[in-house]
Amino acid sequence: MSDPAVEIRGVRKSYGSLDVLHGVDLVVEPGEVVCLIGPSGSGKSTLLRCINHLEKIQGGMILVDGELVGYRRSGPDLVETTHRETCRARRHIGMVFQSFNLFHHLTVLQNLVEAPIHVQGTAKGEALAHARAMLERVGLADKHANYPAQLSGGQQQRVAIARALCMRPKLMLFDEPTSALDPELVGEVLEVLRDLAGQAMTMLVVTHEIGFARQVADRVVFMDQGRIVEQGPAGQVLDAPGHERTRRFLDRVG
Ligand code: ADP
Ligand code: MG
Repeated sequence: MSDPAVEIRGVRKSYGSLDVLHGVDLVVEPGEVVCLIGPSGSGKSTLLRCINHLEKIQGGMILVDGELVGYRRSGPDLVETTHRETCRARRHIGMVFQSFNLFHHLTVLQNLVEAPIHVQGTAKGEALAHARAMLERVGLADKHANYPAQLSGGQQQRVAIARALCMRPKLMLFDEPTSALDPELVGEVLEVLRDLAGQAMTMLVVTHEIGFARQVADRVVFMDQGRIVEQGPAGQVLDAPGHERTRRFLDRVG
């Protein structure tokens, strides 16, 4: 049996006195596509950020590919990893945010090779070749010399996805990747996600695109007020939810 891609056990997270995650358990298997849905403020972004150790957790544990994130065992205790160790653990996790977060002073191709060359130490020629392949994969091979400001929002988000893929991630985290886009640009980004899902990438996607979740997700997880309320196959959770809170949420967004 291989390790789960992500294993979240009893995770608690608070910001000061505000408790945001109240003991979350979630397992994602390799190659699985999980869509995470739920009302604004329910803790979806926080959970993704914890998986990437952009946030410290106050309880429980998170393993990615069988390795603890942010902590290592020291006898019976867990101690925080150093910044360097955390960066190393994070290298195989790609994250795409609602706001595309590209480097605006760099061209598309420079955006893509920046981390492979300077963080991973990949040789320049190899990084460039891989970057061109990833750009091709998101349908933007012809935009390699453009600056982000010269691209539409949908194109910028596709570049952000290509940039994450350039790190050869084993896991991709998407936080509402289409929420900042004009409606007519949503489809082209979802198409890239659909393509990635079809190629067995392990993906955890926070989204309000219920139609996309229904089509692409192996599993849908509904979160509310810092807890997972229910999860299951997309058809089950979206079309026959077992909980009143899930039904109310779906009535509002659907
Ligand atoms: P979602 O992504 O589901 O909308 P978030 O994870 O962004 O929810 O937020 C969950 C809760 O945590 C909200 O009440 C939010 O205000 C709070 N929160 C998020 N980030 C921070 C932060 N950096 N500092 C303090 N509170 C935060
Ligand atoms: Mg959010």
